[in-house]
Amino acid sequence: MSYDTECVFCRIIEKKIPSAIIYEDPYVISFLDINPRFKGHALVVPKVHVSTLDQLSDEATAHLFVVVKHIAKNLVENLGAAGYNITINNGRVAGQVVPHLHVHIIPRYEDKRQGVGFEAVFPVDEEAKTTLNDIAEKVKLTREIKPIFKDKEKEEQKGNEEKEKAENSEKSSKASSLPYESEYFNDDGTPKFK
Ligand code: AMP
Ligand code: ZN
Repeated sequence: MSYDTECVFCRIIEKKIPSAIIYEDPYVISFLDINPRFKGHALVVPKVHVSTLDQLSDEATAHLFVVVKHIAKNLVENLGAAGYNITINNGRVAGQVVPHLHVHIIPRYEDKRQGVGFEAVFPVDEEAKTTLNDIAEKVKLTREIKPIFKDKEKEEQKGNEEKEKAENSEKSSKASSLPYESEYFNDDGTPKFK
């Protein structure tokens, strides 16, 4: 993993500065925001130093969001939150202050309803509202995005012989217990993304 020595979140990842860590694995760390907007405000941070979501690999993105989901569920269950906001500020213009990608999970409480609703943060752009179809034409994504997980049905269609071969291969012992196995690991068990 390459860290940026100037980056506050890299320093947290490297344990050079303290933080209230609530989850960690080889790819992701999560800790409480030092300036919580609501109780339990957590940040989920990929260990690779990239600044915005579009710079993160598909595999790392998938894992990041699986972790986000579990942490959100855990926060809600343990803090009695009634909901939560998930936010990523990508770029200074979007309000990003720390230039290391991070997902905010902000628990929300029934008795503290200030600033509820998208409108409170982002008022409607009336001009953009009149040109929805033109904008849609410009931003349509026409290629299909390959899922990062294995298609179970296709896997099952594989002959027994092939399955056996896969089971015997060296990587299966390490990677098969993971949801996306070969997406994460090279055959020798080293991580594919750093
Ligand atoms: P953003 O505006 O999306 O870049 O948000 C950066 C967040 O990081 C802010 O909510 C800060 O309060 C938080 N933050 C900055 N330094 C630390 C730190 N050392 N530990 C925990 N959270 C931090
Ligand atoms: Zn960093």
